[in-house]
Amino acid sequence: MPRLFTIALLLVVAFPAMVLAQLTADSPLRTQIEATVVSDLPSLRELYEHLHANPELSFQEKETSARIANEMESLGYDVTTGVGGHGVVAVLRNGEGPSVMVRADMDALPVQEETGLPYASAVTATDDQGNEVPVMHACGHDIHMTVFVGTAKVLTELRESWRGTLVMIAQPAEERGAGAKAMLDDGLYTRFPRPDYALALHVKNDLETGKINYVKEYACANVDMVDLTIRGIGGHGAYPHQTKDPIVVAAEVIVALQTIVSREQDPIDPAVVTVGSIHAGAKHNIIPEEARLQLTVRTYSDETRERVLASIERIATNVAQAAGVPDDLLPTMDIRDEYTPALYNDPALVDTSVRAIGIMIGEDNVVEGKPTMGGEDFGRYGREEPPVPIFMFGLGTIPSERLADYEASGQLPPSLHSSRFQPEPGPTIATGVKAMTAAVLNLLVP
Ligand code: ZN
Ligand code: ZN
Repeated sequence: MPRLFTIALLLVVAFPAMVLAQLTADSPLRTQIEATVVSDLPSLRELYEHLHANPELSFQEKETSARIANEMESLGYDVTTGVGGHGVVAVLRNGEGPSVMVRADMDALPVQEETGLPYASAVTATDDQGNEVPVMHACGHDIHMTVFVGTAKVLTELRESWRGTLVMIAQPAEERGAGAKAMLDDGLYTRFPRPDYALALHVKNDLETGKINYVKEYACANVDMVDLTIRGIGGHGAYPHQTKDPIVVAAEVIVALQTIVSREQDPIDPAVVTVGSIHAGAKHNIIPEEARLQLTVRTYSDETRERVLASIERIATNVAQAAGVPDDLLPTMDIRDEYTPALYNDPALVDTSVRAIGIMIGEDNVVEGKPTMGGEDFGRYGREEPPVPIFMFGLGTIPSERLADYEASGQLPPSLHSSRFQPEPGPTIATGVKAMTAAVLNLLVP
């Protein structure tokens, strides 16, 4: 036992030490990365402004993926397009060694941009329902793609310094929680080298430029969309005794659902049950046949997820029964397929990556973040059997002076998905490329 412990300790210490040796604050490798990022930045800014001005909705990333495929081909990567829709897989084999996957997402949102920037989007597109909608990169996926290309460039130029296989993937439809699944279903882990590790980053609206942040273990939640249909017996609003009113049952169900989090859930294991939509009826004096509810349900562990979903069904069924709804008209619950699994950052991968990033951008610029109940389908890449250790870190986008102004005026900086979200491209891209390059090299340095 003590011997095993010693060996484990040696492994833990020895692994990052190799990197420390090559990537110290004043090492040639670090200087080379700095210099490459400085010389690449003007062309990366151009790429960013192009992507920002030409956003595409989820599942429509045709031009975006063509541009990314082009960039990667010109860098000498082995590029496959059309993986899981508009997904792009670019592979660089560079000798014996581990395989590291880096992922960027490509889709934008139906938001009318209001930043007033010279490269602001004026693009509109037709959504799934056939509506003409404005489109904006309001979640910073344009930054992600630019950092992705920048990292690919640096790692190509540094290929003498590392051994292994790089699998760079540009994913469609993250905002719909569908792109990761589509790429995996299309053979991402079988047609291409299976990764030993997977890395990604996401912009942060409230973190200053030059910094990155990280969360160990659960960082984002399981996201379920649930459709709950409460059925009854309709009739005239003046004769409620001849009906089973689904609106009253729905109202009681909504109130009773609040007890899942407040009374059934362990207070230190977070969960969210939000009824975001309720639709029933057409007129003042008609009791309708049904009420339709749409819920978002957020949890971390699989067990909690299953328990919370079961509670929703149990409560809906029993409230309806208590109201005398006949057995053949009890509520129906549909859990949609577009489920996004929780994002679990592998603690060992976080530790070693954070150390390498700290050497590259300065330890003070690496800060611990907070987990959220938001969703991010990057988590799915870690859940295939056998599991792949994954790590997504946060990238600061707002200059410290701008953050200070917001704070002084008691305002919050515009959130992600806001029409006014405005990352500062230069320092954001530079820090992103340096951080991601350090994290990748840390796993590929021989
Ligand atoms: Zn988003
Ligand atoms: Zn996003």
